[in-house]
Amino acid sequence: MANSTRSLLESSYDIGPCDSTQSSSIVEQLQAVKDKEICMVDFRNCIVFQCITCNTVLGDSLGVCGEVESSQSVICLKVTEDVMVNEKHEMCSSGQLASSTYQTLLCTGCHDAVGLVLHSTPKHLSALRNLFLLRKELINCYILRSGTCVKASKINFKHRLMDKNIKKLKEYLETKLKQVDILEQMMEKMCTHDVN
Ligand SMILES: [Zn+2]
Repeated sequence: MANSTRSLLESSYDIGPCDSTQSSSIVEQLQAVKDKEICMVDFRNCIVFQCITCNTVLGDSLGVCGEVESSQSVICLKVTEDVMVNEKHEMCSSGQLASSTYQTLLCTGCHDAVGLVLHSTPKHLSALRNLFLLRKELINCYILRSGTCVKASKINFKHRLMDKNIKKLKEYLETKLKQVDILEQMMEKMCTHDVN
């Protein structure tokens, strides 16, 4: 965003219609929005997921969108490159995931299984297809704010983090929208000036 903003401002100087007071005010407005955006992302609130056997980093709370209580798994939109998806497709014949096909997720550090990705599932599990399900009993959580490590099974990821992620996404989108508004106003002023 910063680069594209800068290039737009630079090209405005090339055209030459904008007076310096006007452009500095726009820069200040954009900076104010950008500063607010930086404050919103507080990485000290993040939790890092580590393999319980070898401490390899498998993911973090920024990628979490809930948990599956029945299988004691954290639902992740993304994981690190140290989580390997086993090529073999397997089938669950019993239990909570009965009649589903899945691939096992392996830790590249110790090659232990750390979770799975569901593919074909019964209808009631369809929302979980193609997401990374990390087994809570197989991961530790390193909490950045306190510098402590706790078992994932001690943390509830179900509602709190999901709400938080949606709120953060909303704030992020609103910030981006404000930046687009400011840029639109700037372009409008430049065009009007150019026609005159
Ligand atoms: Zn491991």
